Amino acid sequence: MIPPAETLPKDSSAPKKGVRQTEQRKAVFEALMAKADHPNAVDVFMRVKSRMPSISLATVYNCLETLTNAGLVRTVNHDREPSRYCANLTEHAHLFCTNCNSITDLPLQNPMLPEQVWNLPPGITIARQEVAFQGLCAQCSTPDPASGSAPSAPLS
Ligand SMILES: [Zn+2]
Ligand SMILES: [Zn+2]
Repeated sequence: MIPPAETLPKDSSAPKKGVRQTEQRKAVFEALMAKADHPNAVDVFMRVKSRMPSISLATVYNCLETLTNAGLVRTVNHDREPSRYCANLTEHAHLFCTNCNSITDLPLQNPMLPEQVWNLPPGITIARQEVAFQGLCAQCSTPDPASGSAPSAPLS
């Protein structure tokens, strides 16, 4: 079992240079913003490493934790997979594709408070909502005409 990021020691041997950490955190955040495919920590690490070769996986975990604690990034958990990360801060649900394992953001049709959407028993307080669906993403639910794997959209 891989321990969740939350249990990693915070005061390991992280460099105490504030500027450097800010730089790394910025790179991690930019990697998340660049592609909204809900990568896990290792995916983020691979992306950041290509432009910042000195960064370590532990640093990426630390940056992700800091960003999550700061409310700039959300963790997305599905089954027993490692946490994935989402930098889309608008209220949305997640569709987990059972075929390709992708996660698609589903924005709310009409932004509403949880108590307007759900029938909450009395005495319940909602701190954060996390709505998840399972199904097929657009790519997987589109029947491909020639059984080719190329995700083309022949519209004309
Ligand atoms: Zn998302
Ligand atoms: Zn899919």
